Amino acid sequence: MTAPRFRSRTFRRIYTRTPGANVVLHHKKRKPGKLKCANCKSVLKGRKSDIPSRINKLTRSKKTIKRMFGGYLCSKCSRRTIINRFRSKNE
Ligand SMILES: [Zn+2]
Repeated sequence: MTAPRFRSRTFRRIYTRTPGANVVLHHKKRKPGKLKCANCKSVLKGRKSDIPSRINKLTRSKKTIKRMFGGYLCSKCSRRTIINRFRSKNE
C-alpha cells in the first residue's frame, strides 16, 4: 500500500525500471509553472523553472541570463526599457 501522502496527485507518478527489471512507482514533486516576463507576461526563455532544491544544483548559466533585466524581463521588453532609460537620461 502506498503511503497516505502519495495517494493524492500532489506528487507526480513516475514508472521506473530497476536493474532487476522490475517496474516500480516513484513519486516526484511537481514542477511549478514557467517563468514569465514581468511586463508582457510571455514565457521567459533560457531560465529553468523548478523547485528550489533542484534549482540550487544547476549551474549559474542555467539560472539566469547575463543581460540587464535578464531573467526578469523578456528580450523585447528589456531592450525597450534600456533604450527608454537612456533616452530619458540624455534629455
Ligand atoms: Zn516582455
